[in-house]
Amino acid sequence: MPINKGAVTARRMLSEFGIEKPDDFSIEELIHARDIILEEKKISNSDGRIVFGKSKTKITINSDIKYLGRRRFTLAHELGHFAMHHNVDTHLEDNALTLDYFKNGGQEYEANQFATELLMPSKYFVEYTQGKPFSPDLLRNIADHFQTSITSAAFRYLELGQHPIFLFYCKDKRVIYWKNSENFYRKVKDITKLHPPEDSVAMEFFNDGTIYKKEGSAQSIYKSTWFETGSDDELDEYFEYAIVTKDYNTVLSIIWER
Ligand SMILES: [Zn+2]
Repeated sequence: MPINKGAVTARRMLSEFGIEKPDDFSIEELIHARDIILEEKKISNSDGRIVFGKSKTKITINSDIKYLGRRRFTLAHELGHFAMHHNVDTHLEDNALTLDYFKNGGQEYEANQFATELLMPSKYFVEYTQGKPFSPDLLRNIADHFQTSITSAAFRYLELGQHPIFLFYCKDKRVIYWKNSENFYRKVKDITKLHPPEDSVAMEFFNDGTIYKKEGSAQSIYKSTWFETGSDDELDEYFEYAIVTKDYNTVLSIIWER
């Protein structure tokens, strides 16, 4: 894996505090140890924010965040800004879009890499996922185990998981970007910036608000749903799991082959 600033900074912080395993600490403790003010309140349209003051820095976390894992990932992301981007910007707002990795380059990417390595250190992630078949349940278990968001677990899986997957990120009924595991090459239909495919699970959500229950989260789809294909296109070979974030009208679709 290429060395990245975020991951290196996270590892340095973990070793500075003598932290061995991800469940040995709470993010709040690290934030307090850095003498950062932590405030919890309602903020509209963003999950977290950081303001660099003259003497003190303040991190605000949206009290409306329902999931513990998302809260924790957001806090770790802000802590990453503190560790790496002090004095670069005085004020940073983070919503689901910036927390979703690849969209914004530079600082947002680095802060996400920091949070990812802090909460799901590569060594433990590989150990935990090894030998387990890919499924939506595996992602939920990863999120539970590492106490992080299911979205961040999916992105981590893309980097380090054994089973090749494709990720499609859609917002407001548009495909914003997609990303694939190494060694999983499929020609994606020409859909960037356009609607997701009509027969995709992502589109089902945008069309009529469908969100599948846990048991039904692996939906069988055609290869031709998202990919260019020649012939022999059968069901039960490709699957789509759509992670919906209603507040931001986003869908992260994970596609994998049996
Ligand atoms: Zn950010």
